[in-house]
Amino acid sequence: MTERIFNFSAGPAVLPEPVLAQAQRDLMALPGVGMSVLEISHRSKTFEAILADAKQSLKQLLKLPDNYHILFLQGGASLQFSMLALNFLHQNAAYVQSGSWASKAMSEAKREGQVDVLWSGKSDKYVRMPAQAELALHSAVDYVHITSNETIEGIAFQSDPDFGDVPLFCDASSDILSRPLEIEKYAMIYAGTQKNIGPAGATLVLLRDDQLSRAKSGLHTMLDYRTFTESDSLYNTPPVFTIYCVGLVARWLLEQGGLESMYQRNRAKAAKLYDVIDASSGFYSGHAAADSRSLMNVTFRLANEELESRFVKEAQALGLDGLKGHRSVGGIRASIYNAFPEAGVDALVSFMKDFQSRV
Ligand SMILES: *Cc1c(COP(=O)(O)O)cnc(C)c1O
Repeated sequence: MTERIFNFSAGPAVLPEPVLAQAQRDLMALPGVGMSVLEISHRSKTFEAILADAKQSLKQLLKLPDNYHILFLQGGASLQFSMLALNFLHQNAAYVQSGSWASKAMSEAKREGQVDVLWSGKSDKYVRMPAQAELALHSAVDYVHITSNETIEGIAFQSDPDFGDVPLFCDASSDILSRPLEIEKYAMIYAGTQKNIGPAGATLVLLRDDQLSRAKSGLHTMLDYRTFTESDSLYNTPPVFTIYCVGLVARWLLEQGGLESMYQRNRAKAAKLYDVIDASSGFYSGHAAADSRSLMNVTFRLANEELESRFVKEAQALGLDGLKGHRSVGGIRASIYNAFPEAGVDALVSFMKDFQSRV
């Protein structure tokens, strides 16, 4: 067996080992089917069961009410930036510009209609999320769009904001399934699978049924949510292997005690890293304001880039991989999604303390 290292990558990201082991076992032949999950038809009974099972586990995990569709689309979260605007942006929509990903979502929406910037953290370099009091709507909008966790900057909403009856759309690519959600507050939640739910290749979309009647008509088939709600995500060939893995991950999460239990573990893991930062007398300086810290992506800087490259290089030599921050912001980023083991966090904590004591 090849030794596994600690993978702090922001995505595609670490998967639970039992999931990898099961996928490996099923790769030559699914029990009783005699074919690999890579080879089966998406129209087969076997795949129908895999899809139904994945949806059932997600529904159970998220305590998803019956009036939400669970869709698996392609094109990544990035295509959703366009698709949701194509479907639902009639006049104007309000966007919370909380970071790099929110900004990308806004750029696409602007092609379709008017984007009102409800709040922007740009001038502060995206160090925090807005408080509810900063998010008052002053005019009618088609929807509000938020990004629950800004993967690049490492900031996150600490609770679900409330916009009353205004449809709330949320890019939850990097923190979906990391904590319980007040799901009824959202008209739509979407997430690329490759960060916290499985391998790359699909986008999970949770769409409240009442939205469908609000969608524009005359859309291209593949860009119309109704195509996928009406076909149960099977209008064309879906990424069968990814969906199968998402089902395994969802089942693993249920076995771990569900989202409340993951939330506690995620808080404990993140606290260990933030504690080292806070106790370092400024040797490590966190990017996020204390009240907006992400549990999934812990971002910090050292005194200069030279020290940061040395940090990344030495960490890598110890089997701590993927710590280099995103090219747009620099610094260090430790992504510690659901599947990231606590032992890896402990290893990074020791390394950070040791590094500081040596330089
Ligand atoms: C990674 C990421 C995206 C882009 O996802 P793709 O699936 O690569 O298109 C969008 N939003 C957030 C918050 C992300 O973390």
